[in-house]
Order: sequence, then structure tokens, then C-alpha cells
Amino acid sequence: MSSLASVTQWHHEVDVLICGFGLAGASAAIEALEADPAARVMIIEKMPEHQAGGNTRASGQSLMISKNAQALKDYQRLMSESNPIPEDMLDTWATRMTQLEPWIQARADEAGARFIKGTGFSEREAVLEYPELGAQEAVAYTATILPIPAGVWLAFKANVDKRPVEVLYQTPLVELIQDPDSLEVFGAVVEQQGQRRHIKARRGVIIAVGGYEADLEMQRNYCGYQDVYPMGTPGNTGDGVRVLQKAGAELWHMRNKGQSGGIWPGIQHPSVNTVFLRNIFMQTFSWLEIAADNQRFYNETAELQLTHYKEKIHGHWVDTPHVSAQPVHMIFDEATREANCLVTKAFTWNIVEGLDWSDDNSAEVAQGLVLKAETLTELARKMGRDPAAVQATVSQYNADCAKGQDTRFGRHPATLQPITSGPFYAVRLVPALVCTSGGAKRNMEAEVLDPKGRPIPRLYEAGECGSMFSNLYQNGCYLTEAMITGRAAGRNVALSKPWA
Ligand SMILES: Cc1cc2nc3c(=O)[nH]c(=O)nc-3n(C[C@H](O)[C@H](O)[C@H](O)COP(=O)(O)OP(=O)(O)OC[C@H]3O[C@@H](n4cnc5c(N)ncnc54)[C@H](O)[C@@H]3O)c2cc1C
Repeated sequence: MSSLASVTQWHHEVDVLICGFGLAGASAAIEALEADPAARVMIIEKMPEHQAGGNTRASGQSLMISKNAQALKDYQRLMSESNPIPEDMLDTWATRMTQLEPWIQARADEAGARFIKGTGFSEREAVLEYPELGAQEAVAYTATILPIPAGVWLAFKANVDKRPVEVLYQTPLVELIQDPDSLEVFGAVVEQQGQRRHIKARRGVIIAVGGYEADLEMQRNYCGYQDVYPMGTPGNTGDGVRVLQKAGAELWHMRNKGQSGGIWPGIQHPSVNTVFLRNIFMQTFSWLEIAADNQRFYNETAELQLTHYKEKIHGHWVDTPHVSAQPVHMIFDEATREANCLVTKAFTWNIVEGLDWSDDNSAEVAQGLVLKAETLTELARKMGRDPAAVQATVSQYNADCAKGQDTRFGRHPATLQPITSGPFYAVRLVPALVCTSGGAKRNMEAEVLDPKGRPIPRLYEAGECGSMFSNLYQNGCYLTEAMITGRAAGRNVALSKPWA
């Protein structure tokens, strides 16, 4: 931290300083001005304007709508059994969730956008992740704001743009300015064009800088993953965790039983450091995945997109082994190549980068991103694998298809289509992350807590950084949590008495 005494000049003076321009930051700004229309509100964002929006912008835009606070609370309690959420937090969160929909609708209306039931990119009205834990009772439906992609982000950005909010892009938060004894926060040190700048925050600072999906070192230290790749913004590098640690906060949810957002099959593109998501709605099934030992390693065609890529093993929901099975390749035939675009186009950061993928994968085959060979033996050589072992795995799978029974992982018989029609193809699959929830421990007023559970004066946190979720989570709850905690933080800071 920097002390007040070290500040020789304030480069900006505001009432409410919000760090990070994703959904939590946007919600905080909207609510701060609702609470006090005269407040001076500033957002600082690390990325340039065309790359702002964080994981919010890259996300599936699904919002969970609940009408039953008790059922929602019971459901979340069971999903968080391995690391319980304090009951008073669950209470407040569930109540606020059931009251949130009209506020979201108002944001869509203000932006001239359409709020709809459903995901916007599938036929489903509701994604019910864990029915045996109470999803049916807790989730009324899934909702979103059009267009797909990025409709929720576009509507919230439009709401912020209409208000007197000063946004400084390419301005990362570096550290907080604090009293070394009481830890009271007076402002922040930021960086602009390589220069340190001081921003005075008369009422408080809100940390809404997202997770650490794009920081491999943190992934290795906190989660034990050797190599994982973000599906979201490259800007989320865990800056909030470092700043909050230095500010005296207690950390939580750095790691749980698994990633609450799961580990998904990603496809790398050499031009960006985030990854595509392998198509979650494959229309043909003449394909399989093999691990480092050339064996299949899970039920590839289970509807894992409905459980954040968690499968039930020994009665517990755990991440699919995409991290421990590396290197992984997907092998498929001509029928699958022709009938499916290999990647999901409705979301991921690649939409922000304007990176496309051809519908029949022919462009990527031509580029060598997808390997092609006339025989499986030749394909195995191109993958750097043992041809006999690859051939044996495919033959075993084809024999299971003929029998109509997957003897290894119980693929649904309707998805047992043999890999027979050459040419044959392979693509490398890497473990891809949706989110991390680690950050500072906080309460539902978004106050950051110290190791003794006391709020650090004038320091607030919202969104995925320090999220209340760990282990299992229900689709649509991260975005709505960003709204709820962003609103609480914005309102509370705006209504605080200035320190000077
Ligand atoms: C592919 C994908 C799909 C998803 N789908 C869904 C879904 O359908 N429903 C759902 O509920 N959740 C979904 N999620 C999760 C959800 O998107 C996030 O949890 C949520 O958007 C977090 O919002 P946030 O405002 O906390 O952070 P973000 O939206 O990530 O915003 C953080 C911002 O802070 C900025 N920043 C970082 N460091 C600094 C710094 N030092 N100084 C200033 N700014 C900084 C970043 O550039 C970024 O703009 C998905 C995530 C991904 C990646």
C-alpha cells in the first residue's frame, strides 16, 4: 500500500472510484448515481475501450432468474457444502436474487435492447445444473439481453455511457492509498502510459477487476494446474487478489474441490492467447477424445455443457480430467468435419477479437490448425502419437459402436457413431477456464473484510473477484452476482461520508 503521506499530488479527485469495467463495475456506477446523483463517479479500466467489458463481454450472457428465495438458498447451500457460505450471506443474496429481474429489465429498456427468457442461443428456457440438489425449485428460468453475442454487456455499457461517469481506459489499478494503522482507504495508485498517478477517492474504492483466469502463475500456485487457458479476457490477471492482499484483506475461495466454472475443452488459435470453446452442440458423433496415453478418458458426448463440465464420479460432481489427461486430441472423420463448426461462436473472448472459424472447418484444415490425413496411421504420426495405439483405441470404439454399447464410459447409444469415413482429422484440445472466484472475503454489503472479519474502511469488492461461489455453481449466477454485489458496493460508497 501507499500511505497518504507519500502522495504529493492528486491527479484526479472523485467520490466513488470503481476499478474494472465489467458487469460488477458497471452495476456499481449505475447504482452509485442512483443513490446520489451528485456523486462524482469514475471507472478505471486496464484495457483499451475496444477491449473493455472483461469476462462479462465474453460470457454466455445467461442470467439466472429465481422466484423462490428459500429454494434458491437451499440449492446453493448444497452446492457449497464443501466450503459453506455464511447463512446470513445466503439469506440476503437469495432475497436480492428474487428481486433482481425488474432492475435488469429496466437496464435493457434504457438501452433500447430486448430482455428475453432463455439463453438466446439454444432452445432451452432454463439451464438446471444439479436437479438432485434442487435446481428445479430454485431456478424459475434463464434470461438474457439480446443481441447474442455480448448483449448484457452492450446494454450495461450503454447505461453507463448515458450517465455522468468518467471512464479512464488503459489505466490499471496498481495499489491502494491507505492509513497504515486503521487501513482506511483514501484512494488508489494507477498507471497511465507508464506513469504512476494518484486518484483521491473521497468516499471509497470498489475493486471489480474480475478473476485470475489469464495468470498462469496464479493458476499453478493456487489451483495446481500446469497449463490452462482463459476463454475470457486476457486482462484478468489476478491484479485484485494482489492489491487486496497488500491492503490487509482476508482471502477466500482461491481453490476448492474444482473450478466452479469447470474445465472445458478449448481450441487454441495461434494469433490470440485466449481460446475457442469446442462446439457444445455437436450434431454428429463420429468423434472421440484421447489422452496422453492414447486412450479415451471420459464420456465425451454427455451433456456436460449443462453442468459446467463436471461429471458425477463416485457420487460427486468433479471436473472432467482435461487438465490431467494432457496432451488431449479430438479425432474425427469427414462426416463430422463437414457437419459441424468445431468451435462455439456465441461467446468467448474471440468474438471481441473478431476472430472467426469457418463453418465447415476447411479454412483451419488449410491453415494446419486442424490436422488431416488419409489414414489413421498417418494422422497419429502428425499428432506425434503411436499409430498402433491410436488405431487400437479407434478400433475398440468402432467395435463398441457396432455393439451399440460404450464398454468404457457409457456414451449414450445414440451418440455411438463409428469413425470410418476418411480423410481423418485431429485437433489438439487444451483445458479452458470460465472463471475463478478467489479474492477478498466480503459481506453482502460488499465490504472487504480483514482476517478478524472486520470491514476495512472504505474498501469494497464486487463481482467475480472474491465471489461467494466455490466448487459448484448454477449457470447464470456469476453475472447476477456481479449485479447484486456491484449495486451494493456502489450504493454504500455513494452514501458514505467523505473522509476529507
Ligand atoms: C466464456 C465464458 C462464459 C461465461 N458465461 C456465463 C454465463 O452465461 N452466465 C454467468 O452468470 N456467468 C458466465 N461467465 C462468468 C461471468 O462472465 C463472470 O463471472 C462475470 O462476467 C464477472 O464480472 P466482473 O465484472 O466481476 O468481471 P469482468 O467482467 O471480468 O470485468 C473485470 C474488468 O476488470 C478489468 N481489470 C483487470 N485488472 C484490472 C486492473 N488492475 N485495473 C483496472 N481494471 C482491471 C478487466 O480488464 C475487466 O474489464 C462466463 C465466463 C466466461 C469466460
